[in-house]
Amino acid sequence: MSETNCLFCRITAGEIPAVCVYEDESCIAFRDINPQAPTHVLVIPRKHIASIKDMSTEDENTLGHLLYICGEIARRENIADSGFRTVFNTGTGAGQTVFHIHAHIIGGRTLSWPPG
Ligand code: 5GP
Ligand code: ZN
Repeated sequence: MSETNCLFCRITAGEIPAVCVYEDESCIAFRDINPQAPTHVLVIPRKHIASIKDMSTEDENTLGHLLYICGEIARRENIADSGFRTVFNTGTGAGQTVFHIHAHIIGGRTLSWPPG
């Protein structure tokens, strides 16, 4: 289900290097190349799904597992207790630039609200 012209499918396939912090049979996590906080990790499903609005019901278990892994990574990165943000940008108007669904895990500093 990978797409040859998708950056994150290519990272999943090992064709583009990334600093991987976690992987299992359905998802992988790696450090953002342009971190917005001391901890900034991207968690993606191995399956190519463009965004939340492109999910089908068969993707519910995969994305549920992905959310659990977000919490696990936050614990490993020691930001679970201080607080962290889990963000899915959906669509260009919301800032999505890579159209392979990904959760940003951002933490390690005080985060303001509302977001920009
Ligand atoms: P979006 O803007 O789609 O929500 O998030 C895409 C994220 O991917 C951005 O935070 C951006 O810095 C990150 N990114 C873009 N290209 C690469 C890359 O080649 N490697 C890694 N590790 N992150 C990338
Ligand atoms: Zn993809």
